[in-house]
Amino acid sequence: MSVKVRYDDDHRMILENLSCDCPCDHAQPNQDIYVGKGLIPRLPEYIARRGLGTHCVVVCDENTYKVAGEQVYQVLKNAGYDAILLKFVREGELVPDERTIGELLLTIQPETEFLVAVGSGSITDTCRVNAARCKLPFVSVSTAPSMDGYTSVVAPLILRGTKIHRAGPCPEIIVCDLQVLATAPLDMVRSGVGDVLGKYIAIADWQIGSVINDEPYCPTCGEIVLNAVASLIDNIDEIRNRTEKGMQVLIEGLLLAGITIMIVGHTRAVASVEHNVGHFVEMKMLERYGKAPSHGATVGAATLMVYPAFKRFANEDISGIDPEKRFPMPVEERRAFMRDTWGVEGGETIMAENPGDFLTTEELRRRVRRAKERFGDIKKIIDGMPAYDEIYAAMERLGAKMTLDELGVDPDVVNTAMHCAKDYRTRYSLFKTLDELGLLETYIADYPMTR
Ligand SMILES: [Zn+2]
Ligand SMILES: [Zn+2]
Repeated sequence: MSVKVRYDDDHRMILENLSCDCPCDHAQPNQDIYVGKGLIPRLPEYIARRGLGTHCVVVCDENTYKVAGEQVYQVLKNAGYDAILLKFVREGELVPDERTIGELLLTIQPETEFLVAVGSGSITDTCRVNAARCKLPFVSVSTAPSMDGYTSVVAPLILRGTKIHRAGPCPEIIVCDLQVLATAPLDMVRSGVGDVLGKYIAIADWQIGSVINDEPYCPTCGEIVLNAVASLIDNIDEIRNRTEKGMQVLIEGLLLAGITIMIVGHTRAVASVEHNVGHFVEMKMLERYGKAPSHGATVGAATLMVYPAFKRFANEDISGIDPEKRFPMPVEERRAFMRDTWGVEGGETIMAENPGDFLTTEELRRRVRRAKERFGDIKKIIDGMPAYDEIYAAMERLGAKMTLDELGVDPDVVNTAMHCAKDYRTRYSLFKTLDELGLLETYIADYPMTR
């Protein structure tokens, strides 16, 4: 039976048919997610239902204050909540760095019981890390369908100019008012689309991981994500025009992708090599220029870059590759490679977190043998991916930037990203297969940087 999304009379999202007999442990998401029109006046009722308390800090910036923050604050005050307003004022874009995070930390009072994040990525992540440190629940009032992090348990942040990740809770309540979302700038909408489109790469990589490493794969999560991608493609004009329907399709895609994290307890279904490329590029550009293109924009362009490798591999003849002639990169060489590409601190952290990536010769050869034996299954997975042209056309119709080059990313950064994206996590990907088979270098050398 396939997964169904419906809403109750309060606009609360209900997911049906989540049950699944896959080998993964499943958890039922218990967040209250509301999607609909004119929902902000109902916030006090939603909060009361969840019993979060009455003392809160409402967090916004100048933009989100105008589109929703002011209303959120007033509605809570009028309903008798003891709300403190924190409005970040910045010259340029708000960044979730030590200043921003510290400003919220110092606004939180001993009696504060919960936080209300009115915004998208930066504000939600600022609240998420403070919620974790202060052990407070938080509410998210979304102002843009720009990324899938609303239901995330990790906050990408900036510390001393470097991108870092910190664990934090998922908001207990997420309110997505379609009229508010429609006020988001088109670039933020494009970013959200890019973030969702990348996910079919993640699903294919997960399936390939189940073939090569017997990794448990959840078809229910796979279906949720692939349905999200498909309905985005079907509604791209509605999304571009920011109609109510378009906003609903996009935010549902982003939320549902995030919900798979709640279901299986990891981000396997929502991020793979396309996110690693995106992450690498964001990190390096930030280091070089103090700013980087948005998460979804880099993921979207990275998706178009890595996708052709899948199609090419499906038509590859690997029968002549001799497993006995394959050797893993020597340990010291690999350590140096990781430090050179990801940076000393980043490389060391990744290596410490992913010890499984130092392959023994035996394990490498086992994988090569498996890839050869099961090539037909890998080919079938790739052939089942949505057509590149459909994805390309959707992004083009939206007016999105199609390449990392167009996003202003330096070519050497793109090139290094293609080499080291496979190393960000132990999690298996086609790029690991290519590397293990000795094909990756040729694939990258032949790469079209633009279509
Ligand atoms: Zn993402
Ligand atoms: Zn499952």
